[in-house]
Amino acid sequence: MGYQYISVIGQDSHRFSADPARPLMLGGCLIPDSPGLDGNSDADVILHAVTNAISGYTGLNILGARADAACRRGLKDSRVYLQMALEDLAAGSQSQASLWHCSLTLEASRPRLAPHIDRIRTKLAELLGLRPAQIGLTATSGEGLSAAGSGEGMACFCCLTIRLPEPEPDLRSRAPGGAASGARSGEPFAGAD
Ligand SMILES: [Zn+2]
Repeated sequence: MGYQYISVIGQDSHRFSADPARPLMLGGCLIPDSPGLDGNSDADVILHAVTNAISGYTGLNILGARADAACRRGLKDSRVYLQMALEDLAAGSQSQASLWHCSLTLEASRPRLAPHIDRIRTKLAELLGLRPAQIGLTATSGEGLSAAGSGEGMACFCCLTIRLPEPEPDLRSRAPGGAASGARSGEPFAGAD
């Protein structure tokens, strides 16, 4: 069976909170000794970017009205929103779609992320049902050119690759001679001579 691959993107950003007690959550992992990001939810900028990417495929937005409603019910863990997006993906008209690769880049100048990259990849793989090798995560300050890169917050970009079984070829187009068999038999004078 052949496959087709579709790439979708998602993005999110949050500024740092002024509340020193707020934790920093990235990819479902608690990052110690760092100021947290501001938001109604836990402001997990990585999970939000991935959730937005899945919405980019399903066309069903989670972040916005649906996540806000969940927040009002006390559901502030962004793993809940990601799960909602994964359920949309599994229930959609193209339910044979499966996640194949998730490439992420974080733009931030703090905290230092290198010690946490592998842990985040492992956690994200677990949440997405992938292997860690199918998760790429880089981080850059972008030389401080953006608000996130200059330390005001964090931005995350996600490129998600989705794999689908290739559609069955139209057998009529494989008729001998290259013409569609239906069209041949439909010719008004076919076989008349
Ligand atoms: Zn967000």
